Amino acid sequence: MSKKRMPPEVAEAVIDRADGWCEALIPSVCTGAPEQLHHRQLRKQGGEHTTDNLVAICASCHSWIHAHPRWAYRAGLLVKSFNTPVFPPAFYRGVMREEEEE
Ligand SMILES: [Zn+2]
Repeated sequence: MSKKRMPPEVAEAVIDRADGWCEALIPSVCTGAPEQLHHRQLRKQGGEHTTDNLVAICASCHSWIHAHPRWAYRAGLLVKSFNTPVFPPAFYRGVMREEEEE
């Protein structure tokens, strides 16, 4: 696992992709603005600084994801160490896709 700092171009690409809106948009949680970069596969679980592994989300969704890991793993907003984060997550911008292969 790399302990490297996040490359600025990766952060910039994720923020550009978010286009001014939280990429989670969890109903009745989200405050809208993409304020923080969240590693879906956590750094301590081997998650890398990649556009596939990162989402730009609001602080409120970010806290909620970490407070509700069971939901977040189903949603693909958390990814187990033995899985590969694939973009987009099953739950993206307020919509849960029917089938997610992980
Ligand atoms: Zn949000």
